[in-house]
Amino acid sequence: MTKKLYYEDAYLKEAKAKVVEIKDNALLLDQTIFYPTGGGQPHDRGTINGVHVLDVYKDEEGNVWHVVEEPEKFRIGDEVELKIDWDYRYKLMRIHTAMHLLDHVLNEVLGKDKWQLYGSGMSVEKGRYDILYPENVNKYKEQIIERFNKYVDEGGEVKIWWEGEKRLTQIRDFEVLPCGGTHVKDIREIGHIKKLKRSSIGKGKQRLEIWLED
Ligand SMILES: [Zn+2]
Repeated sequence: MTKKLYYEDAYLKEAKAKVVEIKDNALLLDQTIFYPTGGGQPHDRGTINGVHVLDVYKDEEGNVWHVVEEPEKFRIGDEVELKIDWDYRYKLMRIHTAMHLLDHVLNEVLGKDKWQLYGSGMSVEKGRYDILYPENVNKYKEQIIERFNKYVDEGGEVKIWWEGEKRLTQIRDFEVLPCGGTHVKDIREIGHIKKLKRSSIGKGKQRLEIWLED
């Protein structure tokens, strides 16, 4: 199985690896810093020996495949240089960790058992939660932003550990969440929420979208 260096250190921007298999336009490496699409987090961008990586995905065996622009430039056994688009990945790490913090803040402001998550998504631009809640969340918007930003100012470690196959994560002493994504080390790195938008998507469902300050 591909050694997942992004789990050992989410801050790795470059690494060396060996090509172990080539299938059509996809490379299998012995180890990688490229995060594959999964858990709502988009795959990394970057290059392998200067060749653009177009897609990164995980197969059923847990191997990570890198779809590259010019597969003919690679041979099995090649030693290659991996470089991820760090600016892009770091923004994803910030927005991803922001969604975990938002989860906790919603528990505090709306009440832990009162709201229900049924969908989520993230991009470098924003994070999205689709929730069920009996009242219009606009009423609590300022409170949510204020509390979120207060936590960011105070800071707090983002802990990650494994229990067998399960990867768990926890901000400070908040809720323990199972998650396979990449996170920042301290919630200070997230930055403040710049904007929170609430919209109705019908049948009592509400969409919450957040944008972070740069
Ligand atoms: Zn996560």
